[in-house]
Amino acid sequence: MEGIKKREHAEIFVLGKRVDDVTAHPFLKPSVKSFKATFDAAFEEDTRGLARAYSPFVGEEVNRFVHIHQGPEDLVAKVKLLRKLSQKTGTCFQRCVGWDALNTLYVISGKIAEREGRKEYLNRFIEYLKYVQRNDLALAGAMTDVKGVRTLRPSEQPNRDAYVHVVEEKAGGIVVRGAKANITGVAVVDEVVVMPTRAMTERDAEYAVSFAIPLDTPGVKVVVGRQINDGRRLEGGEIDGLPYMFNHEGLLILEDVFVPWERVFLYREWRWAAQFVEVFSNYHRQGYAGCKSGLGDVIIGTAHGLARQLGIADKPHVQEKLTEMVFLNEAIYSAGLAASWEARRLLKNGGWWVDPMYANVTKHLVARFPYEVAKLSHDIAGGLLGTAPSEADLKNPELRPLLEKYLQGVPEFTAEERLRLLRLLENTSLSVAYLVESVHGAGSPQAQRISIQRVYDFQRAEAIARRLAGLKAEASGDARAEPRRPAEAEK
Ligand code: SF4
Repeated sequence: MEGIKKREHAEIFVLGKRVDDVTAHPFLKPSVKSFKATFDAAFEEDTRGLARAYSPFVGEEVNRFVHIHQGPEDLVAKVKLLRKLSQKTGTCFQRCVGWDALNTLYVISGKIAEREGRKEYLNRFIEYLKYVQRNDLALAGAMTDVKGVRTLRPSEQPNRDAYVHVVEEKAGGIVVRGAKANITGVAVVDEVVVMPTRAMTERDAEYAVSFAIPLDTPGVKVVVGRQINDGRRLEGGEIDGLPYMFNHEGLLILEDVFVPWERVFLYREWRWAAQFVEVFSNYHRQGYAGCKSGLGDVIIGTAHGLARQLGIADKPHVQEKLTEMVFLNEAIYSAGLAASWEARRLLKNGGWWVDPMYANVTKHLVARFPYEVAKLSHDIAGGLLGTAPSEADLKNPELRPLLEKYLQGVPEFTAEERLRLLRLLENTSLSVAYLVESVHGAGSPQAQRISIQRVYDFQRAEAIARRLAGLKAEASGDARAEPRRPAEAEK
């Protein structure tokens, strides 16, 4: 928190006004707190083991959020850590995008070194990684361009800046311009890692760039986005005013920003853009298994608590709904664990990546199941979820005795306890972090369907079926092998 207070030029805007100290601003303070939880996790007893890892690059323990995965166990630890952190924060804690960006840069710069013998990107990246690890920096990852006309490639856009691109090459580095949308946690970080967002052709070469910049680099602006009920943060209080942690996303605008060569990790490398996106998005899709199942725990627990307050927790139809919520939640988590245990090496010496089929299945479940879990929790909570009086009403001495009398269910719980759980359920189950992010984060559902279709080998599956049906197997499929093709990143 002290580090981000010292940023000099960071131009951050909330509701049209410039914010000087994000750690004190009521709109952003909850985001600072949830980001901070990723640092605290390395010192808290229940997460200490998960949140620390030995880095061979600096020869010491580092926070896992800046660690390069050294095997399947590290990927499993990631999912477990994210689940615990969601339980601690009740929201998205925003640091995983930068972490996935680091691992992607390690894989892609390593592949360029192995395949093409060009080691400059890898060497630069390793130096940057050591700096990040030694200083335990908070990073945002910026992938999604604003994209302009969706049917046109970057180089075909009427607005040349619709994708981040190089506008000038200088002796000491490059000058870039453009904007990245939906950037998680961007106002409360030390640095941003910028990445390409799609496959490119040679004509798009100026758009195929990746680099890292401190957030207070001249020319950088952040416009923080709105979220449902965000005005409550400005109310203060301890029930309605979102006293706990929250996340934010923002628009990152780069207006002729200078990036020194030592911070440029991909320059006009259009051939590598598609693989870059594939490696990154699969890392992030796997991560959702942890953070969204952890949020699911919060919602299931809240629904269970409300059911007890109403005296219906043991009713068969409520038990049925709670069980369904658990099943949906654990299915998400299980798929992420499978993606982690089935990890594979993309480099001769490391570069551990998730199983692309299971990572995509994970995220595709996440795009569907949280909406179901949320609906079931609303069903159990009752209509008061959408109509409960405010914290200010409860604090009004004239109203309080009446509300205490009329909002109480089972006498062992108070009306205030009920109101607190209702607000928690509202703020978690209807949040950007649990719903919109679940659909669109790490790629919209169609992106997962395309990946799933690419990785599954339908011909091989048909060969399996033909063999069992007593039909002649066709030459293309080995009926004894798994029907799974390698992803582009594995080739
Ligand atoms: Fe991390 Fe989940 Fe937030 Fe992504 S959505 S940054 S994986 S907490």
